[in-house]
Amino acid sequence: MTAATKTNLPAKTYHDDLAIVRQELDKCMKCGNCMAVCPVYGVDKVESSVTRSKIAVADAVLTGDLELDDPQVYQMIFNCLVCKSCMTNCPTKVNFDRIILALRAALVRKNGLPWLKKMIFSTLKHPKLFDAGMKIGAAMQGIAFRSNKNQKSISPRSPFAYVGGGFGFDSERQMPELTITPLRERVPEVVTAKKPVLKVSFFTGDSLNYFYPEAGQDLIDVLTANNIEVHIPREQSCCGVPVLVHGDIDTVRTLAKNNIDVIEKTGCDYLITGCGSCGGAWTHDYVEILASDPVYGPKATFWAERTYDISTFLTKVITFRKPEGVLDSVVTYHDSCHLKKSMKVFAEPREIIKSIPGVTFKEMSAPDTCCGSGGSYVVSHYETASSIGRKKAEDIDKTGADTVSVGCPACMMQLLDNVNRFGKAQKTSHYISLLAESYRREKASAK
Ligand code: SF4
Ligand code: SF4
Repeated sequence: MTAATKTNLPAKTYHDDLAIVRQELDKCMKCGNCMAVCPVYGVDKVESSVTRSKIAVADAVLTGDLELDDPQVYQMIFNCLVCKSCMTNCPTKVNFDRIILALRAALVRKNGLPWLKKMIFSTLKHPKLFDAGMKIGAAMQGIAFRSNKNQKSISPRSPFAYVGGGFGFDSERQMPELTITPLRERVPEVVTAKKPVLKVSFFTGDSLNYFYPEAGQDLIDVLTANNIEVHIPREQSCCGVPVLVHGDIDTVRTLAKNNIDVIEKTGCDYLITGCGSCGGAWTHDYVEILASDPVYGPKATFWAERTYDISTFLTKVITFRKPEGVLDSVVTYHDSCHLKKSMKVFAEPREIIKSIPGVTFKEMSAPDTCCGSGGSYVVSHYETASSIGRKKAEDIDKTGADTVSVGCPACMMQLLDNVNRFGKAQKTSHYISLLAESYRREKASAK
C-alpha cells in the first residue's frame, strides 16, 4: 500500500508554535455565543471558563502581557473539556481546539510535564511495559476496589475512598473493572469470516482493550457476521488523545507513527474504530500533528480517508445485515463529543439501534451535550464533571429508557458513574453490543 506524496509541507504546526494560532484568535469577535453551549460555563457560570476568555488569555500570552505559567492562566487552560461544543455555535468558525491544544503544548515546552504525567506518558511509548502495568493493576485492583456485581463495576474501598474522595474516588464512585485478559489477547490477530468480502483492521484503543473487552469482542462478532475479515494487530499503542490534551506532543507523534506502521503492515483497505476519541485521532488529530512530517504526514492523510467508526462502516461502506433477534428494550443514545464533533457521526449509530427488533428508541433532550468526561478532566475536575454528568443523567431519566447507549468507551465510564449516582441505574452499553446481542439471539432461536 503506497501513501500519496505531499509537497509544500508546513515547517511547524500549531503544536510547535503558539503564534500559529494567531489567525484563529483574530477570528473571535467576542460575541459570547459560546457561553450558551459550553458545559463548564453551564454549571459554574464563571466568565473565565468560557471560550472567549481563554482566547483572550492566549492573545495576552502571545503579546507578552501574561505568562503561560501564571497560576490563573494555568487554571483557565486546563478548565476545559476540549469537547468542541463551542465550535458548533461559533459564527466565525474559530477552531478553538487548536487554540487550547497549542496553549497546553506551549506550556509543556516551557516547563516540561509534571513528573506523574511524564512517567505515565513515557510508559505509553512502550506498549509492552504499559500492558504489563495494566495487568498488574488488574491483578491488584481488588485491594483498593470492591466489586459491584449488579452493575459490573467497581468502587473504592475504605480507606482508599477516604484518601481518594478529594479526586472523586469516594466510596460511591463507580468505574468499570480493569480486565485481567485484554481484548487483544482474547482474540487471534486475524479473525476470519465464513465468506469474507473485505478485510479491515480494527484499532481497539486502550479503553476497549482494557476496560470494555466484551464490547470490542461484540464489534469483531458484528463484522464477521457481515462477512468481514478482521485484523487486530497486537502492537498497536494508545491512540494518543489522552496525551495530546496534556500537551505532550513528542509522545503523541511517537504513538501516532507507531500506530500508522502497525496498521499499514496489516495490508487492509479500511481501519475501523469503536471509540470516538480513537476515531477522531485517526481522522483528524494525526493529520494535524504530523502535517510537517514528510514521511508520516502523507501517511496520516491516507489513513484518515480510510478510517471509519464501526457504525459508518456498517451503514455507508457496506450494507449491514438487518438483525432479527428481539431485544425488548427502551434505548436512548448519547452523542460522544469526539464521535459527533470530530467524526461527524451521529445518524449512523441511531440507524443501527433502530434496526433492532423489539427496541424502542427514545431521543433524550440535547443528546450531544458533553457528559463531562473529557478524558482525564473527570479526574482533575471531578466536581464540575459530576455536575455536568448529573444533568445528563436527568435527561436520560426523562426518556424512560432502560439502556443508554454510546459509541465511546470514555463516555461509557462517565455515564456508568452518573446514572448510578444521580439517575436510575440504567444499563450503559456500546451501541454495537446491542446489535451483537440481537445477532446472538437470532442465532440461538434458529437452533
Ligand atoms: S462564539 Fe466564537 S466568535 Fe463568539 S465569542 Fe465565542 S469563540 Fe469568539
Ligand atoms: S471546548 Fe468545551 S469545555 Fe472547552 S471552552 Fe469549548 S465548550 Fe467549553
